[in-house]
Amino acid sequence: MSEEKTVKLIFLGAPGAGKGTQAELTAEKYKIPTISTGAILREAIAAGTELGKTAAGYVESGALVPDDLIVGLVSERISRPDCKNGFILDGFPRTIAQAKALDESGTEISVVIDIDVPDGKIIDRMAGRRVCASCGATFHVVHNPTGDGIHCDRCGGELTRRRDDDPEIVRQRLRTYHSETEPLVGYYEAKGTLKRIDGDGKVEDITAAVFEVVDDYLGSET
Ligand code: AMP
Repeated sequence: MSEEKTVKLIFLGAPGAGKGTQAELTAEKYKIPTISTGAILREAIAAGTELGKTAAGYVESGALVPDDLIVGLVSERISRPDCKNGFILDGFPRTIAQAKALDESGTEISVVIDIDVPDGKIIDRMAGRRVCASCGATFHVVHNPTGDGIHCDRCGGELTRRRDDDPEIVRQRLRTYHSETEPLVGYYEAKGTLKRIDGDGKVEDITAAVFEVVDDYLGSET
């Protein structure tokens, strides 16, 4: 095993499957950054940048932002020094074209973790999801509540509800997921990098399963 082994992870799964929560916990444990394309877009929208203005209509209607925009943004982000020991991609790639662009950039992904949750549970989950307005951490009013239910446990920021967590938009996001993103499961399965985790359970049980997958990878010969 090489001491320098990097951990480049992709978290796949439907919106609301728990990718963001698991990505944060994994990032903390393995001391690598999480790159959430959704969070980057939401920040850009809030700040009113050019990227935000272009992305707003797509994000708010539950559609995907055009591939070239997202691919450029991710390539720039993963070339920064804090990614030299690895990173977690949360919400990218979301189309086969994005996955191919990532492959063509020469980025070798260690493991793709697919967090699997049935659609029926997703809409219910999204209704209770809360996001910190300051640091972007995600919580759930029932399954992963904060200490006081109003503020973020991590930074004390105010908890808010994402506009695209509205049930009507969630249904659209699920349709987008099944048509555009789910084919990536087969794509990475064919490459031999896919690990499936049952995401319909307690946060800590899913985290344990995720850590086991990463530890297996780190302990394996290259
Ligand atoms: P998320 O927070 O990952 O659920 O992303 C929220 C929204 O941002 C999505 O519904 C899309 O509109 C947009 N988005 C995030 N990541 C991507 C991506 N990789 N490709 C295209 N659109 C994205």
